[in-house]
Amino acid sequence: MNLILTEAAEALRNAQKLVLTAHENPDGDAIGSTLGLMHVLRDMGKEVRVFIDDDIPSNFSILPGVDQIERPTEKMTADLLVVLDTAPDRIGRTGELTDAPILNIDHHISNDGEGRRLYLDAARAATCEIVYELAKELRVPFTKESAMCIYTGIATDCGFFSFANTKPFTMRAAAELMEYGVEPNIISEAMEQKTYTVVKAMSKALDTMEIFHGGQAVGLFLDEGLSAEIESTEGFIDMVRVIEGVDVALLLKCKEKDVCRASMRSKGTDVSKIATSFGGGGHIRAAGCTLNMPFAQAKATIIDAINRAMDGEQQG
Ligand code: AMP
Ligand code: MN
Ligand code: MN
Repeated sequence: MNLILTEAAEALRNAQKLVLTAHENPDGDAIGSTLGLMHVLRDMGKEVRVFIDDDIPSNFSILPGVDQIERPTEKMTADLLVVLDTAPDRIGRTGELTDAPILNIDHHISNDGEGRRLYLDAARAATCEIVYELAKELRVPFTKESAMCIYTGIATDCGFFSFANTKPFTMRAAAELMEYGVEPNIISEAMEQKTYTVVKAMSKALDTMEIFHGGQAVGLFLDEGLSAEIESTEGFIDMVRVIEGVDVALLLKCKEKDVCRASMRSKGTDVSKIATSFGGGGHIRAAGCTLNMPFAQAKATIIDAINRAMDGEQQG
């Protein structure tokens, strides 16, 4: 059931004890939206816990409240389970351990909302833009704490105001959050920080680069050995999506044996459609999926799917 913003706000207002969660492999928007909403709801006097079933990268340690994010280990009771920045299929054990009714808040066009209450706005650059709107709807003033978290999700999902999803709304929201004490340089420096080892590994990853579809697509292919060596591939795809003439960029890595993860970025081709065809999802210009097969097969399969999608777009 699709909700409108006032109904989503009403569902939050009506709950006293809430569990907030977001997707595994959490990014700035997943962490920013759960923590941002946690601050807003606590400012309303509600009892709020945040669960994310994954490690939180150290880049986020500057965010107020990050130390309160818990891993789900035992059953918990709540009036409402708020699932942010994903459909509930990517929240790990949090879903199994909470039997509270779900309120899903998301901006992914691939979220079909089947069988649950969903507030979806695919025109928003980040789930954090929706949290910003909800705070206003609930008439809760921002604080430096909530503003830092919400700003981080907005900034990271729109490539620090550079991607096509950056709208006047995005910049106005960010500007308003700055009035509450957000320092953009502090956030961006924390987000872009990498270890020496990871920067070294970037050169190994670049060595795996291959172009296909006549130079309009490019991929980095981190096999099992290389994937195990590299602790974080955050931002790796950005090194190659800048290549002249490239529309689609791909990063393929191994999570474990026979479990490969593909990340895609594009300037025009709908990569969300490709990701959805493998059970993943995302946005038109940024999407991801998991391929449960050996690395060599995953590589051939995803290259073939990208080639076919690009052929189709050129004909259409
Ligand atoms: P990533 O390549 O992991 O940075 O993801 C790009 C975009 O696609 C992000 O907005 C993700 O939330 C989304 N995404 C990635 N993997 C999936 C998936 N398996 N299902 C749905 N959305 C995904
Ligand atoms: Mn996300
Ligand atoms: Mn997002």
